[in-house]
Order: sequence, then structure tokens, then C-alpha cells
Amino acid sequence: MIKLTLENTQKAVAKCRQLKPRVKFVANRTFEVFSSNNSNKYQVRFDVKNGEKFGQCECKASERGLVCYHLVAGATANIYRQSQPITLRARRAKNSEGEILTTQRTG
Ligand SMILES: [Zn+2]
Repeated sequence: MIKLTLENTQKAVAKCRQLKPRVKFVANRTFEVFSSNNSNKYQVRFDVKNGEKFGQCECKASERGLVCYHLVAGATANIYRQSQPITLRARRAKNSEGEILTTQRTG
């Protein structure tokens, strides 16, 4: 897996913003990213070890240890997804206890 840092994701982030690929959720921390250039699709996986983020894609760039825009697209979806249960829990707590909880979203 490739360690994801601010530095090595920068170019891929720019490319991802430009191409806006579609991302499909497969399983926890696993996503399918549809290429914007052709009909290919790539499965991307993520992991967190010691607070550091890691990712792996099926494409050629990732095989060579480069961060591709598929990874960035998947990572964005992963962050969004992981923020969902917190929001749901907060809503449930609000309903059952009559308290208003605020959730902070990062990223
Ligand atoms: Zn890729």
C-alpha cells in the first residue's frame, strides 16, 4: 500500500477535481472508481496504521507506487462515508434525549 501524504496526493487531487470520476461503495474502506477517460474501473482500498493513511489502487500508476486520482476519489468518498454514522448517532441522541448535539465535520 502507498502511504498518502499531503505532498504525494497534490497532483492527484488536482486531476480528480478536473475529472470528477464516479465512485461506488463496495465494502468498508473499499471503493470502485470509474475512469473518466474510458470504460475502465478500478478498485481502491484504504487502511489506517498509526494514524497514517494508506491506499492501493489497481491501476498501473498505483503499481509503480504513485498516487492516482482514483485513490483520491475513493479517499474523498471514504471520508464522507465515515462521517455519516456520527451524524446519524447525533440525530438519534437528539431524538431520544431531547438534546441538541453538534457534530463537527473535518475535511
Ligand atoms: Zn488508480
